[in-house]
Amino acid sequence: MDNEPIKKEEILEKLSEFKNQNLNYSDGKILGSMCTRSDPFSKEVFCDFLDSNLGDPGLFKGTQTLEEMVIDDIGSFLSLEKSFGNIVTGGTEANLMAIRSARNITRKEKGIGDINNENEYTIPEIIVPRSAHFSFKKAADLLNLKLIEADLDENYRVDIESVKNNISENTIAIVGIAGTTELGMIDPIKELSDLATEKNIYFHVDAAFGGFSIPFLNDFGYEIPPFDFALEGVCSITIDPHKMGLAPIPSGCIIFREKKYLDIMAVKSPYLTSKEQSTIVGTRLGAPVAATWAIMQYMGREGYAKNANECMINTEFLADALFKEDFELITEPDLNIVAFTHPEINTDDLADMLEKKGWRVSVSSYPKSVRIVLMQHIKYTHLIDFLTSIREIKSDLNIR
Ligand SMILES: *Cc1c(COP(=O)(O)O)cnc(C)c1O
Repeated sequence: MDNEPIKKEEILEKLSEFKNQNLNYSDGKILGSMCTRSDPFSKEVFCDFLDSNLGDPGLFKGTQTLEEMVIDDIGSFLSLEKSFGNIVTGGTEANLMAIRSARNITRKEKGIGDINNENEYTIPEIIVPRSAHFSFKKAADLLNLKLIEADLDENYRVDIESVKNNISENTIAIVGIAGTTELGMIDPIKELSDLATEKNIYFHVDAAFGGFSIPFLNDFGYEIPPFDFALEGVCSITIDPHKMGLAPIPSGCIIFREKKYLDIMAVKSPYLTSKEQSTIVGTRLGAPVAATWAIMQYMGREGYAKNANECMINTEFLADALFKEDFELITEPDLNIVAFTHPEINTDDLADMLEKKGWRVSVSSYPKSVRIVLMQHIKYTHLIDFLTSIREIKSDLNIR
């Protein structure tokens, strides 16, 4: 910052230089992101609510009501009549809240991990699938928990036997994933729910990616098994409006089945208009709440169903086309992610060659593969261009 103020025009000119260095979703080159271009309407609403602070909700009663409405709306397509939760910054914060709640409620109800009980203190444990998002590593670190990774089956869904074998008297939560980050796979949520119910353990479903598509895909005849609050063991669900929900960043969402899961995290907030706070952050943007509410009204169930279905049609097209080009698919996709390798091309080299042709793919770690997330901004014509690049790479390498 200079001493002297600078004129707006000059500042904007500088900013546009930086903005021009960014990629745009609409170019169709971003093939490895779980976010997408947000709707212009939701951006407008976002800007209109930039000053409202949900950390001090008594001053912004309208935004607070909008948050209750949007939480109920999201909960209702997750089979819950009355929902409790918050719009947060993303899946990471939502998962952190869920695990914090699980830790606190288990400490209260079973005395596990009670630091005031020095003689019997044991480190609480959470069991997540090996495919879990790295946000659970952050949650375990912040909350001082031991993170146990359960094995996956041959389709990269969690192996229920492995989860069962890892349960101990210190287990405070089991996590299942409805749409894994790397491959889009859906764990056997019903089996996990039954197991958690039987053992009386908190069960959290991470549907950050899949939550805004699975419920609507079933409208199109996809037969995806239940993954939500219809299963009695499910205590909480993470679902990200800023991924398949088409809301602007930052918009994540945590939904709890009962109010007690929020209350168990509440601390007194003396100088504010509310008496207690259960969220992790204090001062908290109201803008994502309004923008998420608006985009949901604007899309309707029909709009989300259409979006999810189009993404799946592109996924199936790409998977088929790659298979015909002799690529190996890691799995049959459950959702709109295609991961693949080629028997004669090193995966990192393949990603590099695609990058040189202007594509931005990402590389999955387990198993190592090129990963394409078929978000809404990727159109059929982009896929045709992408397949041309794929054939060029093969021919450059003299692969038939
Ligand atoms: C994206 C993702 C997250 C993390 O969400 P952020 O919004 O990046 O914080 C968590 N879990 C799953 C399954 C995800 O796909």
